[in-house]
Parts: sequence; structure tokens; C-alpha cells
Amino acid sequence: MILIDGKRISQEIKEELKGAVLQRKAEGRKIPHLAAVLVGNDGASMTYVSNKVKACEEIGFESTLIRYDDSVPEEILLAKVQALNEDRSIDGFIVQLPLPKHIDELKITQAIDPLKDVDGFHPRNLGNMVVNLPGFLPATPAGVLELIQRMDIATEGKNCVIIGRSNIVGMPLSIMLGRNTKPGNCTVTLAHSKTENLAEVCRNADILIAAIGQPGFVTQDMVKEGAVVIDVGTTRVEDPSRMKGWRLAGDVAFDEVSKKASMLSPVPGGVGPMTIASLMLNTLKAMDLKGK
Ligand code: NAP
Repeated sequence: MILIDGKRISQEIKEELKGAVLQRKAEGRKIPHLAAVLVGNDGASMTYVSNKVKACEEIGFESTLIRYDDSVPEEILLAKVQALNEDRSIDGFIVQLPLPKHIDELKITQAIDPLKDVDGFHPRNLGNMVVNLPGFLPATPAGVLELIQRMDIATEGKNCVIIGRSNIVGMPLSIMLGRNTKPGNCTVTLAHSKTENLAEVCRNADILIAAIGQPGFVTQDMVKEGAVVIDVGTTRVEDPSRMKGWRLAGDVAFDEVSKKASMLSPVPGGVGPMTIASLMLNTLKAMDLKGK
């Protein structure tokens, strides 16, 4: 079994981006600037955002972190989004999800200027993705595609089963892998909680991607011998043996599935670091799209 080492591949991408920053500096051009808006004190969201800021520092991008209390009114957040849309020094920004219940996530997502929407969640960017027009691909699915490309995984004509159909992972990934592109040209099945005979559907997959958020859900009996298995799931589970009291767990039962899969991505160290790398690639692209 070959490990799909997202940590190593994301490091390669960061090195490439460092080179792009140095070149921009040498040419006297603007350095990419990413802003992140974080609402509340959710541990996972705080970790994700701080990792994104750290990645900017490592690459040499500028970054700005904007924090609000859990109780921030929706109008204040919408006004900040508008201000970031108009701020010429900011090339791209994200509003970390999930947001507190009193804030309409879709309203916030739709308020972001599509040309600064480096998370790729705006309906216009999702639409551009469907018809293959330039725009931002959502960061996690784009990270999965980058893994597939850099691991030289054949996709054309392959059966790909994706479990989970969220707007940010499964649904866009199903479209991206079904397009007439490289990677792409898969025959895609998008499975979800209403799918009948899921284990049987999964056993038909040459490429199996799990994005549901249920630790250890994909077991050996659901995997075809020699399949490529990509684990997007990232759930904090209690672990008293760790100093912090928890660890990250994927949707795939790694130990048993590793005996059957030809390639497998671990959690942590698989798709997670690739999401951040994609966000950084999108931030650089934000400048190119505007001709900066
Ligand atoms: P989500 O919005 O909660 O969606 C979960 C999807 O899984 C839904 O489509 C749901 O089906 C499906 N599902 C749930 N239980 C199922 C079951 N027993 N059988 C089949 N399908 C089932 O989740 P998400 O935001 O896409 O995230 C999924 C996982 O990926 C989470 O662990 C999340 O933390 C992780 N994630 C990781 C990254 C990263 O950077 N590594 C980024 C984003 C998300 P229904 O639609 O029928 O309800």
C-alpha cells in the first residue's frame, strides 16, 4: 500500500509558492494578501484559521486575521465582508465556517466578491466550476484533485464513489471528477445517508472518497482489492493518552483498509494540509485573475 502523503505534497506546493512570492518581489509586484474572518471560539475553527495564517507566514504572503465574538450581529459581519470586498490591499478572504446559528451562512457566502472568494463557496464560482470557466475551485475538493494529480492516480474511465454530498466537499468533488478534464473523466457515484446498499456501491469503486465525518465508517468489506481510498473526514475524538485530550480521526478504518487499498490517505496528514495548500494557490490566483 502506498501512503498518499498530503503533508509532503502540501510542503512541495508551499515551496513552489515561496518561489512565486520571491519572483513577485524581484519584479516589484504586489505580494498576495489573505484575510480570514473568525467568529467565536470553536476549537477546530481556531486551529484551522491559525494554520492558514501560519501557512501565509511560511510562504511569505501577507495575512490579516479578523476576530468577532460569537454574538456578533449578522449586519456587522456583512458590513465587514463589504469592507473586505472594497479593500484593494486584500486579494482574497475567507469567512471560516461554521458560523453561529443566528447568522445565515449562505447570505454571508453570497456577499463575498466572487473575485476574492478564495474558499470557492460563492454560487458564481460553483457555477463556473460546472461549466469549466475560470474561477476558484473549493479548497478541499481542489486539494483532493491536486493529490490525485501529483500521485499520478489514473482517473479516466474509473468508477469513483464519493460518500457525502455537502456543498463544500462531496458535491463539488463529484462534478470536478466527472468533468472532461485531467484529472477527471471518472464515472462518479455520489452517495449519501439515503443510499441503499452502500457497502456494495463502495465495493464497485476504483477510487473511493469518504467525506461524511464519521470516524472509522469505511471498513475493509466496503473496499475493492487494489482501490485508491481518499479520506476527507476529520473528526476530533476523545483520547486521554494525548496531552490535549483528543486526536483527529478520519472516516476510514485505516489499519484494516490499508491491507486492501493500493493507495490510502491518512488522517491527519492527508487531505487536511492539502486544503490549506489549495487556499494558498487560490490566493495567488486571485491576483492573476485581476491582472495584479
Ligand atoms: P456535512 O456537511 O456534515 O455532510 C456530511 C455528508 O455525509 C452528508 O451528505 C450526509 O448525507 C453524508 N452522510 C452522513 N452519514 C452518512 C452515512 N452513514 N452514510 C452515508 N452518507 C452519510 O460534512 P462536510 O462538511 O462535507 O464534512 C465531511 C467531513 O469532512 C467532516 O469530517 C469534516 O470535518 C471533513 N472536512 C475536512 C476538510 C479538510 O480540510 N480535511 C475540509 C472540509 C471537511 P446527507 O446529505 O444524506 O445528510
